[in-house]
Amino acid sequence: MTTLAFALAATIKHDGHGGIADLLSTQEEAAAWLIEHDQLIAQVLGADLGRFVLPNRAETLPNLREDLVRIRGAVRALFARAVAPGEPSTADAARLMSLQDALRMVNRAADRLGTTHLEWADEPVKRWAYRTEDPIELLVGAVGRSAIDFLVSPDRARLRACPAARCVKYFLQDDPRQTWCSPACGNRERVNRHYRKRTSG
Ligand SMILES: [Zn+2]
Repeated sequence: MTTLAFALAATIKHDGHGGIADLLSTQEEAAAWLIEHDQLIAQVLGADLGRFVLPNRAETLPNLREDLVRIRGAVRALFARAVAPGEPSTADAARLMSLQDALRMVNRAADRLGTTHLEWADEPVKRWAYRTEDPIELLVGAVGRSAIDFLVSPDRARLRACPAARCVKYFLQDDPRQTWCSPACGNRERVNRHYRKRTSG
């Protein structure tokens, strides 16, 4: 099962031509991403997602793209540290935020959500006692919370950076023998290796 922080980290992709494609290049793309992932946001914020009607207002939120991109940088820096040593995604290797900066950013973001309180109408429910009403701060806070929960969960041990030459993805290994993020990356690498062997031999 994917999580919000993981989905955000996946918005950097290989463009198929040796470069990096950013799926959050414009405000419109950022708004579309938000709408597409409202279920993952709701996993963190719960029913409050509706209260702040984030998806409906996505395009009108100032700084939506900038703030998502900033917290994404922190999440990817932490992912890079969580994978086997020395094997971060090639998209990040040369431009990683420092651990201290990434921790500060993620913790500060998560702080804005405040703590959870117990409410009891029909049945006991957990509800955030927010420190902000700002929808972007709540969204970025949800990403921060999601990153923290993921990194301290048993799932962290399955986090990998795909080693395919033209891939910059982090993925969760389903099976200890899984090397690539997808069958497409595996096939491409097998073809490349075969070709390299033939041309070098
Ligand atoms: Zn891959």
